[in-house]
Amino acid sequence: HKWVYTFGDGAAEGTAGMRDLLGGKGANLAEMSNSGVPVPPGFTITTEVCTHFTKTDGTYPDELKAQVEDALDKVGKTTGRRFGDMSKPLLVSVRSGARVSMPGMMDTVLNLGLNDDTVGALAEDAGDARFAYDSYRRFIQMYGDVVMGLEHHDFEAILETYKDEKSLNLDTDLTADDWQTIIERYKQLVVDQLGKPFPQDPRDQLWGAIGAVFGSWMNARAITYRRLHQIPESWGTAVNVQAMVFGNMGDTSATGVAFTRNPSTGENKLYGEFLVNAQGEDVVAGIRTPQAITEEARMESSAPEKPSLEQAMPEAFQEFRDICNRLERHYREMQDVEFTIERGKLWMLQTRSGKRTAKAALKIAVDMVDEGLITEEEAVTRVDPASLDQLLHPTIDPAAERNVVATGLPASPGAASGEIVFSSDEAERLANQGKAVILVRIETSPEDIHGMHAAEGILTTRGGMTSHAAVVARGMGKPCVSGAGGIRVDYQAGTLTSAGKTLKAGEIITIDGANGQVLAGSVPMLKPELSGDFARLMEWADKVRRMRVRTNAETPADARAARDFGAEGIGLCRTEHMFFDAERIGDMREMIVADTEEGRRAALDKLLPMQRSDFVELFEIMAGLPVTIRLLDPPLHEFLPKSPEEIEEVASAIGVSKTKLKRRLEQLEEFNPMLGHRGCRLAVSYPEIAEMQARAIFEAAVEAGKRTGNPVRPEIMIPLVGLKAELDIVKARIDAVAETVAKEAGQEIQYDVGTMVELPRACLIADKIAESAHFFSFGTNDLTQTTFGISRDDAASFLPTYQAQNIFETDPFVSMDIEGVGALVKIGVERGRQTRPDIKLGICGEHGGDPASIAFCETVGLDYVSCSPFRVPIARLAAAQAAL
Ligand code: PEP
Ligand code: MG
Repeated sequence: HKWVYTFGDGAAEGTAGMRDLLGGKGANLAEMSNSGVPVPPGFTITTEVCTHFTKTDGTYPDELKAQVEDALDKVGKTTGRRFGDMSKPLLVSVRSGARVSMPGMMDTVLNLGLNDDTVGALAEDAGDARFAYDSYRRFIQMYGDVVMGLEHHDFEAILETYKDEKSLNLDTDLTADDWQTIIERYKQLVVDQLGKPFPQDPRDQLWGAIGAVFGSWMNARAITYRRLHQIPESWGTAVNVQAMVFGNMGDTSATGVAFTRNPSTGENKLYGEFLVNAQGEDVVAGIRTPQAITEEARMESSAPEKPSLEQAMPEAFQEFRDICNRLERHYREMQDVEFTIERGKLWMLQTRSGKRTAKAALKIAVDMVDEGLITEEEAVTRVDPASLDQLLHPTIDPAAERNVVATGLPASPGAASGEIVFSSDEAERLANQGKAVILVRIETSPEDIHGMHAAEGILTTRGGMTSHAAVVARGMGKPCVSGAGGIRVDYQAGTLTSAGKTLKAGEIITIDGANGQVLAGSVPMLKPELSGDFARLMEWADKVRRMRVRTNAETPADARAARDFGAEGIGLCRTEHMFFDAERIGDMREMIVADTEEGRRAALDKLLPMQRSDFVELFEIMAGLPVTIRLLDPPLHEFLPKSPEEIEEVASAIGVSKTKLKRRLEQLEEFNPMLGHRGCRLAVSYPEIAEMQARAIFEAAVEAGKRTGNPVRPEIMIPLVGLKAELDIVKARIDAVAETVAKEAGQEIQYDVGTMVELPRACLIADKIAESAHFFSFGTNDLTQTTFGISRDDAASFLPTYQAQNIFETDPFVSMDIEGVGALVKIGVERGRQTRPDIKLGICGEHGGDPASIAFCETVGLDYVSCSPFRVPIARLAAAQAAL
């Protein structure tokens, strides 16, 4: 069995298509080698080895050792170097590389192969002893930290103490001799803490690093990251071992990272950062401020006095730009690359499809269609539907007054306001209380993922556009301002200070991810603009999707917003929301408290004209598009007051005694309202309510039809049906009202009566229900609740525990449980169609706006999904992707 794949020197055993086996990094290194891009030679140990390692508690397949030896030989031949060689030692980097990039895993060990002997050879080879000893001490530190589990800061402490002893300020003040002393102390630290010496044999070092990478697949941070991003544990990570090239061999050496297009805006311009005389970690760590790659970017940067790569190393720059262009055309996708220049010679260390903001994803997809690189359909697949949320994010009103307290980098777009918090735990705690927070950190690390997740936005005082905070925030679609160097953060005091102004934890700030500004207080925001690239992509999506997209809306404002977002009708109008208005709730309560049917009808008569005008307005806004109106669903006690003060107030407002109101409250009280007197059960007990609503709907249909000249065909939906008899009883009432209104109006009325399918029983007897129902709308909120027996209102108390223990990968109220709830939906669809082949089928639970659930709806052939207005664009794109 082949466990190891080599690459380099213009050839490779793998290809880009072997991502599952080689991981993203390994597959792309192979692909680059194959296409003649200069890549330091190396090899990839496959993800299958990781799986073996995890399953067998840290052992390797038998053939692995020999295959690694062969691969090392090959690298040695290509580079003319050997492990442990006293004149030409081979040094390698060891990196993890899963199918998708995964911060949180062990990332990189550099300079592996250095020891007390080979360090001298490196010194000679480089003609620079200081460089060699600095590299060696970095190696001990990195290896000690990520492989041997020692604390990074213990090494830092040794360095600081030494600098104090010698009154040295900067690392660059240390000489080769200084570093040698440090190395001795580092090695002593290893012995003191672990009782064994730092490994001197490069092979021991290598196997240590390989084991650490595979082991890191199961570390807590990686597990959390996988849970948040729904990455299966079974994927495993690959290990990439690659000959070292040095970006820190003096002023003709450099290292950097770049995107082939701007990852924030999508502009088609090479965009990146580099450092002269540095190693890769220095760029990402954000300790030295990196320089721009191109001249154009330099002039727009915050440090235009520092030369660009284009200026400083024109030849390497030209080659780099050519390679970037080639890679982009080859992959037909924006690339994120890492490179090193060793004494003027360019080496590419990595390429992968670049993470980008939704705005950039959209622009890049549309631009690439215009450039003839991809088709319209491919463009539709290039944008993550959920990420559209970012574009639907508010931005700061340009007319608003800006009280700018600091400026950093515009690391991730959108604007957000919230309370200042300085720790991720605190961010999570406050967010759980429903507070909006801005996480403020000097810099972030993978340990901050949960806090970043909880925060509305992220502000850091250190680090560039490729710092951890920037990259992760863009991935999450959260506004981020990074590297706001003018701010001083004092974690101890819980304050941030900028330009003489001090803000405390808990005070409100606003960050503007579009320009990097940090503002005091909250600021008026503007709704997003949905024209241009967005509209074009949506048009392409609309061309390929089969399912219609409707909205859940009952107010005119929501209905209009949904139309602007492209909704093709209303899939769910929850009429109960129309009774909570201050001017209506009194009549509603009067109806509920009335002792007799006459009393109820009297109150309902007052509600009728209001309902009717609501519906007229909705029909007009929807201009001939289908509108599904659901009869009253919640239990009646939801409309009544709770506290003694309120009861007193309401009693006098509706003209009944306190005692009477209290008695009615007691009658209506329920232990489990979700399974109580609600849905069609109300219409069965109080048919006059359903009749009033039906009358309002039909009269409104007649009126809106007259006003607009388009006949309106309303869809009346009966909730929580579990028995065919329930549906038939209520439907008979509706049909009777229709007949009466038609007579009164002197015209025929077209309408459909259908039902919510939101109980398991309704799915199972869907064939019988379909005898009476013209349409089904799957109410997956209640269906999830009743299938699991988990109350939608009380699930929050244990869902996090369930997710932490991987019992639920995702919240089933957010993304459909395909296995269980989905199976019931499928049964409902099949049985419904058995009886009525042309039955109209939709979904109106929260899942109607969730891309994964929408994909499922496509597979069972629903006619439409319905979701809240802001999710309509997401649903349009998700439905298109599902159809492709
Ligand atoms: C549902 O149950 O999925 C549904 C859409 O109805 P509601 O959320 O109003 O119960
Ligand atoms: Mg429901």
